[in-house]
Amino acid sequence: TEEKSLNFIEEIIEEDLRTNKHGGRVLTRFPPEPNGYLHIGHAKSICLNFGLAKKYNGKTNLRFDDTNPVTEDVEYVDSIKNDIKWLGFEWDKELYTSDYFQKLYDFAVILIKKGLAYVDESSAEEIAAAKGTPTEAGKPTSARSRSVEDNLRLFEEMRAGRYQDGEMVLRAKIDLANPNMHLRDPLLYRIKHAHHHRTGNEWCIYPMYDFAHGQSDSIEEITHSVCTLEFIPHRDLYNWLIENIGIYESKQYEFARLNMTYTVMSKRRLLQLVNEKLVDGWDDPRMPTISGLRRRGYTAASIRNFCDRIGVAKRENMIDFGLLEFCIREDLNKTAWRRMAVLDPVKLIITNYPEGKEEILIGENNPEVEGGEGEREIPFSRELWIERDDFMEDAPKKFFRLGPDKQVRLKNAYIIQCDDFKKDSDGKVTEIHCSYIPNSKSGEDTSGLKVKGTIHWVSALHAKTAEVRLYDRLFQVENPVLEEDFKSTLNPDSLTIINAYIEPDLANAIVGRGYQFIRLGYFTLDKLTSSDKLIFNRTVGLRDNWAK
Ligand code: ATP
Ligand code: MG
Ligand code: MG
Repeated sequence: TEEKSLNFIEEIIEEDLRTNKHGGRVLTRFPPEPNGYLHIGHAKSICLNFGLAKKYNGKTNLRFDDTNPVTEDVEYVDSIKNDIKWLGFEWDKELYTSDYFQKLYDFAVILIKKGLAYVDESSAEEIAAAKGTPTEAGKPTSARSRSVEDNLRLFEEMRAGRYQDGEMVLRAKIDLANPNMHLRDPLLYRIKHAHHHRTGNEWCIYPMYDFAHGQSDSIEEITHSVCTLEFIPHRDLYNWLIENIGIYESKQYEFARLNMTYTVMSKRRLLQLVNEKLVDGWDDPRMPTISGLRRRGYTAASIRNFCDRIGVAKRENMIDFGLLEFCIREDLNKTAWRRMAVLDPVKLIITNYPEGKEEILIGENNPEVEGGEGEREIPFSRELWIERDDFMEDAPKKFFRLGPDKQVRLKNAYIIQCDDFKKDSDGKVTEIHCSYIPNSKSGEDTSGLKVKGTIHWVSALHAKTAEVRLYDRLFQVENPVLEEDFKSTLNPDSLTIINAYIEPDLANAIVGRGYQFIRLGYFTLDKLTSSDKLIFNRTVGLRDNWAK
């Protein structure tokens, strides 16, 4: 059996296993900040972290990185857990950085006692100015020479609530001349008198990301802490803190984040779309969120497959949205149940089919699978709806659908021949008159006729109606964040709502299942469907129209 080549993180893990670096263990973590819903970029990180653990008999912790009391919410925590499970992954422990607040505080005290951290009451502007520039060393503020005792007392007082927001911070004492700006005495703690969704009012000082993240990894004894490339400059600080506090040596590795065309991949921006009601919530089917994709009809398998295909890179790149569509199309082609629906109807009358007669025809659910996954009944009668563009008065030679004197097969039914049609005063076709060939029924055709085209239809007498939502790309440009205001590039035609005729069996459609509307695309029932109104979302067209 041929092995797929290893990605660079797998190579590192295999080397670590060979040298017994972490005692043969692999423990990864997925560390979302609960300040929004997960997007397809997070799916990439989830597939990577959980995938590595799975491959190497390890485990993955789900750690909510909840150090910012202001932006976080339990709604987000719940949605994140739901999305990870839906993607098909199971975490080992559910953890919260906020559960480590006391431990992190104690770590800070260790650094202060070692003379490696100090309280600084300089303003944010003063601190920034004193940091220098990448080519020019920073200058110490007067706080830098404060005694250990004074630092300990002030830090305790910070914690006790003696000071206002922004009055002072705790900084690491590292190196004000280091070419890596992150090592020029970075902030470790800030004062924030804010209610936290888990710790309530217990704390009024909160650790900065850099002081919380690596330490949480270490507390959990994470072996491989995988993050995105923008954290490369943080790595030295990650290592410095672990080394100087003297705790478990977790290691950070960086890979390229997922960027995708015609969308934005940042919770902050997605939140703006939600708050400004430019979309219908986090799970709007046009959103690149996992919940949006799910509502749109994407399957977990297609998303996992997409993440697998794009691989793990060390350089930023832009993935074509069309690749995600390719993955869902490939999946739904194998799994979707075939049904008929007419989105832009015109009436077709079979003049030699008796008035009042009804017939039940049979269609396979899924011809891609042996046995077809069962069948459904399709009622047939004298009057049908067909797609307006399946008829052309003056058709070019290669048009194998309906036109004057042309023959086509009606899917799962009979061959018909067009005898006549009617137009209104604007030249719009209003009715097509055909005759059917009685001995040409699908499956028992003895007519001997050969026709090149097959079209879909629904019986007018039996059709149900449904609202169908057709989606297009959310933005008009490939990379909206390059624009001054990314929202100005929203596609005004990203949603078109139409009313369609559907075959009656689609009234039994279930949320979460994919349906191929024959010749049209893949659709799924929307969560807003009610007993008196069916709503379908178009997941993706049958072919790639993306390049158009
Ligand atoms: P955002 O900017 O969208 O809020 P984030 O990185 O701040 O993203 P977190 O909740 O901190 O969001 O992310 C959790 C994990 O998901 C992190 O390890 C992060 O690196 C990873 N992640 C976030 N966005 C992407 C992306 N586009 N591609 C790959 N991984 C990502
Ligand atoms: Mg983050
Ligand atoms: Mg963020």
